[in-house]
Amino acid sequence: MMKKIGFIGAGKMAQAMIEGMLKTNQIARENIMASAISDKTVDKIKTTYQIAATNNNKEVARFSDILFLAVKPDLHSKVIAEIRNQIHRDVIIITIAAGITLADIEREFGFGIKTVRTMPNTPSLVGEGMSAICPNDSISENEIVEVEQLFHTFGKTERMDEKLMDAIPAISGSSPAYVYMFIEALADGGVLQGIPRDKAYRLAAQSVLGAAKMVLETEVHPGVLKDNVCTPGGATIEAVSTLEKMQFRGSILAAMESCTKKVKSLT
Ligand code: NAD
Repeated sequence: MMKKIGFIGAGKMAQAMIEGMLKTNQIARENIMASAISDKTVDKIKTTYQIAATNNNKEVARFSDILFLAVKPDLHSKVIAEIRNQIHRDVIIITIAAGITLADIEREFGFGIKTVRTMPNTPSLVGEGMSAICPNDSISENEIVEVEQLFHTFGKTERMDEKLMDAIPAISGSSPAYVYMFIEALADGGVLQGIPRDKAYRLAAQSVLGAAKMVLETEVHPGVLKDNVCTPGGATIEAVSTLEKMQFRGSILAAMESCTKKVKSLT
């Protein structure tokens, strides 16, 4: 891809995407630029990724054909006011912030701006990101495909209706955090039984990866896959029974509801 890609804000999520993009070798380093507030982050970006970095957001805005707004939701208005007069006429603005709507972006940049509301996640860093994307009406199908191709350099995408975008952090934007908790708990359980810590993490993480691949690649219902592991009267159904008693699934649904409630309160 020859387009110039800019990031305003170079925190955890921006860096995960930059690292994912660079790993594929599909995007040249000189076609990416990022800005951050602190000189320390600017230096870190330059040395770690060998891309241009600055603390001048306007410079990134002038550079970019595709411009990511990768700051916290409450900083969007401030950043947009700063760069509004610096952008290319045909720029595509991509927001990754929880709760920022297409209408917010259109209002602040002006009607006709091409924009895509997205919600990525940090496994983008290893090329296994999951991003929900929602374009506005000003962007052509070809341009949407181009944005999808960019996101495919660091993972998978799903197009979503905007009314569902507030629900995305709970299921994929934030969910890596709870999956890490699950992996940590599995490893702790292994350590409790005497399995060395490093082996416990590998056993736990690979099992989660394998189970996820089973769901995606076999397309068999997860309930059926679960049934297939449970020998009648065996040890697995004992574990399943305990998890049900401890509200394993109910607690995940409740956590997701609270996550979505928080997203709706952010802006
Ligand atoms: P972060 O705190 O790691 O990064 C924010 C970055 O913005 C920092 O580098 C900071 O220096 C920079 N910044 C602050 N003010 C700025 C300004 N005025 N101009 C330019 N840069 C400025 O946060 P993060 O986790 O990367 O999250 C950033 C956005 O990504 C948020 O809107 C969040 O909703 C979204 N997001 C995060 C994740 C995640 O897993 N972390 C997932 C999906 C979406």
